[in-house]
Amino acid sequence: MDKFFTETDANKEALRDRRVVVLGYGSQGRGQALNLRDSGVDVAVGLRSGGTTWAQAEGEGWEPVPVETAVEGADVVCLLVPDMDQPELYQQHVAPHLKPGAAVVFAHGFNIHYDAIAPADNVDVIMVAPKGPGALVREQFEQGRGVPCLFAVHQDATGSAAELALAYADAIGGTRAGVMQTTFREETETDLFGEQAVLCGGATELVCAGWETLVEAGYDPQLAYFECLHELKLIVDLLYEGGLARMHKFVSDTAKYGDLSRGKRVIDEQTRQRMKEILAEIQDGRFAKEWREEHATGSKNYHAMLQADLDHPIEQVGQQLRSRFAWIRQEEGATA
Ligand code: NAD
Ligand code: MG
Repeated sequence: MDKFFTETDANKEALRDRRVVVLGYGSQGRGQALNLRDSGVDVAVGLRSGGTTWAQAEGEGWEPVPVETAVEGADVVCLLVPDMDQPELYQQHVAPHLKPGAAVVFAHGFNIHYDAIAPADNVDVIMVAPKGPGALVREQFEQGRGVPCLFAVHQDATGSAAELALAYADAIGGTRAGVMQTTFREETETDLFGEQAVLCGGATELVCAGWETLVEAGYDPQLAYFECLHELKLIVDLLYEGGLARMHKFVSDTAKYGDLSRGKRVIDEQTRQRMKEILAEIQDGRFAKEWREEHATGSKNYHAMLQADLDHPIEQVGQQLRSRFAWIRQEEGATA
């Protein structure tokens, strides 16, 4: 990364007098639309008539319009519906109404990188990807902060696509934290790898495997929950604030010795080899193909695997314990 863009690098004029339309009012759609509005941008929300988030958007002061109507005449169209639903929405309801010189904005490079969406040559195609869930994009913005963003330009029809992307990242609060330029390929592949191997897949399997090991050895499931799940947040907070050094500073010498002498037996050469395999499936398109086929055939495996995760016994133990923590927000839909 050769440059880290901050507030002074963004040209706010790039969004002046431009009609922005946010399609979708879920995690990112809601957070970004509200931030754009508070930044003084002319923004509207486009939704499916009768869609699930229509009433929610109305409740938050929007007058949602059907997607086609929203796209008609818009200068900037943000596709913030689920990745698997974007191709159909784009082909049927966006592309026919898009005016030449408009910009299409993505929050993840998936559909462009894997060729599921191929916009016409006469529009800009950019990405502004917040490195955090939509609820945090909103929450941080309200506190005067921001979530770091990546931006990329796939197609520059107007000659000012990069300037627009940076202005957009600025308007949703990204430049307050820092914005880095990347490519659709790099963002897509690293994002998928991160969520599969480390953040979602890796972290939850590590937690569950540790919990099962203790419980199978006869230890109290509640105690195992505190040890393997609850305390993880405290460690991650230290890593987030100051890397490995800060964690080492706060844990005991015994914890440090255990970490240094045992950690590499948990994540060993074989684990690294499998991480490389997972990365290869992302790079050669096998993961994208598998997920698209799964979605197209009714997501049966996906729902079965999700249910199995939700049925894991650590979930019941967690629910019991968390119901006693007064400080945990039981916020529905605060997704990661
Ligand atoms: P989401 O599932 O939270 O939002 C769904 C929204 O789209 C809702 O308003 C829903 O009503 C609407 N919708 C669902 N299906 C639709 C359809 N067929 N046609 C029209 N509208 C439909 O989505 P999200 O997680 O915010 O993801 C949006 C984009 O942001 C994706 O490209 C995703 O990869 C990216 N992204 C998400 C996160 C995150 O934290 N969730 C982080 C970074 C990037
Ligand atoms: Mg898992």
